[in-house]
Amino acid sequence: MRLFEGTPWDRPPRCERCGELEADCTCPPPAKVLTPPEKQTAVLASENRKKGKVVTVVRGLAADENDLPRLLDRLKAACGAGGTIKDETLEVQGNHRERVRTLLVEIGYRVRE
Ligand SMILES: [Zn+2]
Repeated sequence: MRLFEGTPWDRPPRCERCGELEADCTCPPPAKVLTPPEKQTAVLASENRKKGKVVTVVRGLAADENDLPRLLDRLKAACGAGGTIKDETLEVQGNHRERVRTLLVEIGYRVRE
């Protein structure tokens, strides 16, 4: 029972986009508002991991301001290597600083090393 239900003031909530009752609305959730790459600085490094493995690491990009899974896919494709996301750190297997830097700059990020 809503406040004012059955009275002239009764206004069931409607979706602002499709105009349907909220209960009937099938609009997708609003897209994330991402921060332009030009306003962000990615911090690039290569690090030694156990068993002599080297990984290329990208830090400084917030998960709620970037599509990190998509960025990781692009990095993996550019390097031809596997990779993973740990919290907000992107890791690509192997030493691919040149390729990672090139791609980040291409996308528009500022890069610090
Ligand atoms: Zn809707």
